[in-house]
Amino acid sequence: MLIEKIRTIPDYPKPGISFHDITTLLKDAEAFQQVINVLKVHYQAQSTPIDVIVGIEARGFIIGSALAYALKTGFVPIRKSGKLPAKVASAEYALEYGVDRIEIHTDAITPGCRVLLVDDLIATGGTALAAADLIEQLQGQVVGAAFIINLPTVGGAAKLQARHYPVFCLAELAG
Ligand code: AMP
Repeated sequence: MLIEKIRTIPDYPKPGISFHDITTLLKDAEAFQQVINVLKVHYQAQSTPIDVIVGIEARGFIIGSALAYALKTGFVPIRKSGKLPAKVASAEYALEYGVDRIEIHTDAITPGCRVLLVDDLIATGGTALAAADLIEQLQGQVVGAAFIINLPTVGGAAKLQARHYPVFCLAELAG
């Protein structure tokens, strides 16, 4: 079971937060392959093609780039503020534990581009919604959002679905 490969650390990075750590899953060759294969099969079966995968720093890069390779799409990073060298679009967002800003290169998404958004985990949905806003600012179309872990009690996946983004998650855990 994939879910058993995820390590949960209580009270990290601050009291009251249960941190779901995917490094224990990633180091397991079979589990990592299984994650990418399940996502690959799911998205290959969709009628809407994907032009590019957008991964959110930092764990979204690991899953997103492996999936982009498997699906033979391009990969575009959304990074924390100040990391991308060329002209960027930026958006502020609220984390489960804090506030941050994310950025994307303005030339990374062409108008009409069909984008699959990828991250390791969705909690409040603040990060993913800000990422979707950035993609739409550049006139891209968010055709799906994929996460390894959903924390359904925190409510982020429902917020994405309310905006009509199809959400696909491999595991549900308690927030
Ligand atoms: P959110 O914007 O609240 O949906 O938070 C999602 C982002 O924060 C993802 O990039 C996650 O990697 C990280 N994150 C939030 N909560 C947790 C958690 N409980 N365990 C691990 N990562 C988390």
